[in-house]
Amino acid sequence: MTATTISFEFFPPRTPEAVAKLELTRSRLLALGPSFFSVTFGAGGSTRELTLETALAVTAATGVECAPHISCIGTPLAELREVIKRYVEVGITRVVALRGDMPSGLTGFGELRYASELVAFIRQEAGQAFHIEVAAYPEFHPQASTAAADLQHFKAKVEAGANSAITQYFYNPDAYFRFVESCAALGVHLPIVPGIMPITNFSQLMRFSDMCGAEVPRWIVKRLRDFGDDRASIRAFGIDVTTALCDRLLKDGAPGLHFYTMNQSEAAEAVFHNLGLRSSHGRPLVTPPQPPAD
Ligand code: FAD
Repeated sequence: MTATTISFEFFPPRTPEAVAKLELTRSRLLALGPSFFSVTFGAGGSTRELTLETALAVTAATGVECAPHISCIGTPLAELREVIKRYVEVGITRVVALRGDMPSGLTGFGELRYASELVAFIRQEAGQAFHIEVAAYPEFHPQASTAAADLQHFKAKVEAGANSAITQYFYNPDAYFRFVESCAALGVHLPIVPGIMPITNFSQLMRFSDMCGAEVPRWIVKRLRDFGDDRASIRAFGIDVTTALCDRLLKDGAPGLHFYTMNQSEAAEAVFHNLGLRSSHGRPLVTPPQPPAD
């Protein structure tokens, strides 16, 4: 089985220990033959320099393209223009364009309120310099007034110039396939790559899911709750669930997988190993999954 697009998302590390951890993570994930890596961007431009610095370091070390994210909410237009200009200057060719979420305490929304406006602005400023990825929500964005409106807003991002999309994470593959079908019915045919959040930590998963509106099915919550503090069982169960999800997605035609790695390689490695995925170099993955670092 060979997936067409495999990508791994990182966040910019802030301490020397976190930098060292990411160096290890990226080198282990490189062995899985990713199509690209990506690095998140703090809302309001809070990681502006660090995002680019991290993306450049990843590419320099791995030889694999690394897409910095860029988000518009709370960031003045002049600053966004600077970021885009800088990305062009240093040779970035792929970006992930997002609205972002207003950090608490910040008040100015900035000139661009939606990701569709950011995509249009990037095209205006940089033409076709970048492959633009945007976010998609198979279970719909929590602030969308209706599912139909959310689909129309997604379509607007595509019409503004997005090339492909990465989804919010989900554990219900039917929601993903229904979303792709609904897009096709609206004439939206770009690759929509499922975002995968391996389950490794119960409280963290529930916190993130609360924030981003991703649904964790009741049966998963109950099983995780039963494991209590037994982290090894949580991880083993999480890898099983994630493997089954990825297997179904790839078998039924998803164009690839994008892993939210949390700067850890172990879960993605274990899922690859279970699926028998081959690296893009055609080599079978023989490296066994690593034991948890903590
Ligand atoms: P949009 O596409 O603008 O949509 C946001 C909401 O506004 C939706 O409810 C939509 O229906 C609605 N909407 C859109 N257009 C209109 C309109 N014209 N009128 C009325 N309503 C409208 N966040 C970060 O801060 N940094 C990151 O690096 C980051 N990376 C991410 C990567 C991925 C793959 C994903 C899926 C999310 C990421 N996020 C990141 C989170 C993202 O910023 C949030 O989910 C945010 O709430 C929405 O961003 P968006 O780009 O989807 O927004």
